[in-house]
Amino acid sequence: MKIRKLVEKYEDQIITWRREFHENPELSGEEIRTSERVCEELKKVNIEVKRIGKTGVLGILEGNKPGKTVALRADMDALPVQEANNIPYKSKSKGIMHACGHDGHTAMLLGAAKLLSQMRDKIKGRVKFIFQPAEESAQGASMMIKGGVIEGVDAILGIHLWADLAVGKVSVDPGPRMASTDMFKITIKGKGGHGSMPHQGVDAILAGSAVAIDLQSIVSREINPLDPAVLSIGKFCGGEGWNILCDKVLMEGTTRCFNPQIRDKFPSMIERIIKKTAEAYRAEGTLEYILLIPPLINNPEMSKMALQSVIKNFGEESVVKFEKVTAGEDFAFYAQEAPSVFAFVGARNEKKGANYPQHHRKFNIDEDALVIATSLYSQFALDFLGE
Ligand code: MN
Repeated sequence: MKIRKLVEKYEDQIITWRREFHENPELSGEEIRTSERVCEELKKVNIEVKRIGKTGVLGILEGNKPGKTVALRADMDALPVQEANNIPYKSKSKGIMHACGHDGHTAMLLGAAKLLSQMRDKIKGRVKFIFQPAEESAQGASMMIKGGVIEGVDAILGIHLWADLAVGKVSVDPGPRMASTDMFKITIKGKGGHGSMPHQGVDAILAGSAVAIDLQSIVSREINPLDPAVLSIGKFCGGEGWNILCDKVLMEGTTRCFNPQIRDKFPSMIERIIKKTAEAYRAEGTLEYILLIPPLINNPEMSKMALQSVIKNFGEESVVKFEKVTAGEDFAFYAQEAPSVFAFVGARNEKKGANYPQHHRKFNIDEDALVIATSLYSQFALDFLGE
């Protein structure tokens, strides 16, 4: 029997879980209730449970035959967003909302755990269920890895319900899927004075503006145009009054790319421009560069395996080629540790009002996507371990 058919028996349960999590969202690192519920449900089906850190959960299912270890990962955190959906399971927490679909991810992985726990006789090896906290703050995956969840893991699958893909469509493309996500802070130091006598001081606003403009030459002039990259400054602060020469400007921004070599070169390119440009205006520029998430790159063999897992249950027509995205995902940390694949499972459906982007106050999913994703988790685990 197709795994999909078995998963369909649990569909109501998975939807109920998803709505329960949706109603009770918790911010990154605060997933107390959610992780407690996950532990409860895993224990009900006799899956060994380990707590990792404050709110991380690892479930371990031992098959009845020896073999390899496959890991399946879901994230559990919500966002500081006030929900604007009118639904019976609307968020009960003011200013907190599952606006990225992680409520669905948690429910899907519980569904797969429940299903696979009924198939111990067939399982050769071990399935690890990774319920990680704090994806949105880019802290959770590293914390779980430090806690040992990836030790002995031969392959890992992560899934994201995706607003830009129609429900029924799945992408498991090989290669780069999501971008590196790093942050930088720039300080421009000038010298204060009277706005009417700029020659007596050093205008940090003028120097900072020149830096902000010149930084755009990195992507357009220094990086191969065939290698996508982004440099955005999202914050620019300085000045105290209309007639006061500004002595200090602070900027914050982000870089995104898919090529690890470009990621390595970004800090020195940015620093050079900050220093030299500020100097040209008699100011002083310094850079603080914070590495957050590496690019997420799918292993071609794992992609191929996941592709077969999708086709077996939903046919060729469910598979789409989907362009990589410049957002980041801390699943990338697991991908550095073990052969991995990250799947986008379509969740958009205008007819059901599920047509808002991720992180929007009206974000919602077509719950039909839950069976598809749960089937993919389960089928991939079985395919990798070999029945
Ligand atoms: Mn997300």
